[in-house]
Amino acid sequence: MTTGLAAIFVEPYKFELEELPVPEVEAGGLLVKITAAGICGSDLHFYRGHLQPGNWTGDPLNRPTIIGHEMTGVVAKLGSDVSADSLGRSLKEGDRVAYTYFFPCLKCYNCLRGQLNTCPNRTRFRKPVEEYPYCSGGFAEYFYLPRGHFVFKVPDELTDAQVAPVNCAVSQVIFGLNKANMRLGDTVVIQGAGGLGINAAAAAKEMGASRVVILDGSKNRLDLALECGADEIIDITEYNTSESRIARVKELTEGRGGDIVMELVGLPDAFTEGLELTRLGGTLVEIGNMWKGGKTSLDVATTVWGNTTIIGIAHYDPYTLPVALDFLVSTMDKYALPQLMSHSFPLSEINTAFAEAEWSGKQDGTVITRAYLTP
Ligand SMILES: [Zn+2]
Ligand SMILES: [Zn+2]
Repeated sequence: MTTGLAAIFVEPYKFELEELPVPEVEAGGLLVKITAAGICGSDLHFYRGHLQPGNWTGDPLNRPTIIGHEMTGVVAKLGSDVSADSLGRSLKEGDRVAYTYFFPCLKCYNCLRGQLNTCPNRTRFRKPVEEYPYCSGGFAEYFYLPRGHFVFKVPDELTDAQVAPVNCAVSQVIFGLNKANMRLGDTVVIQGAGGLGINAAAAAKEMGASRVVILDGSKNRLDLALECGADEIIDITEYNTSESRIARVKELTEGRGGDIVMELVGLPDAFTEGLELTRLGGTLVEIGNMWKGGKTSLDVATTVWGNTTIIGIAHYDPYTLPVALDFLVSTMDKYALPQLMSHSFPLSEINTAFAEAEWSGKQDGTVITRAYLTP
């Protein structure tokens, strides 16, 4: 039996390395050999034990399991009737690919409505490790794409580190801006300069934003944001009250607030603050708060008198993936996005990688932007 190395998430703050069977590739399936997997903000929430069975809307978190979803790899084996990617380009073993980590059923009401990211039956990663296909998370040597997957060839120009965040951070924010009907000349305010926020700054600029304002508490992330499309930064260690941040955003937007505000921090109070950062008639895109139980106190009239459009988004339509890949190629010399993946670790050192990537509790300005793991 062939096996592959996997990092099993056994309990908060702890991974254990294990060899798991490499799954048999069924008809319509595709086996990927992972070349790079990023540590996303949501992985850090798992790491801290925030996401427990029952407190979020996803699959129950069966532990031990493999987490990680931001990744790229090469085709290790094609299923018997798979010979092309989702755009019909021929695919062979060894080709570099990007792919969604969630799998819409393609036969329910929501899928029929073309909202594949809202399919209630979509299967995901994080299955129990003893269940086929075993390799259902990014922090492993292999990842299995079942029948009905979406997969796209990767342009040669991009490195694996650049491609790893495409199926989460990059596509998520491009899809969010699309859903917010981003228009030429819009002012975009971004809460959080992590992997999503920095990509959102560059994507918003490319989509025609007249001004991009980004808020964070880490100096190196804010510096990188300035190299990636942000026009103005707000250091929340300096603007350390909600009132001061709202006033500063208003000051930078002719007293209005953002046409589009993107909440990418994942703290409940950031959502309520985001409403105040949004101009009258503007749009708040909520992506960060993804676990249940994150409650905040809200004066509902803010949304009525604000005429605010609130858009909650989990996952994205798969067509966003090739758009995101093209975006990275066309802006390669324009933004410092390649620097986003700042630290790499071998998979065998995953515990060190997570300890280094963990930012909660160390707001000293030295937070690394994004770490990634390689086999
Ligand atoms: Zn992610
Ligand atoms: Zn469906």
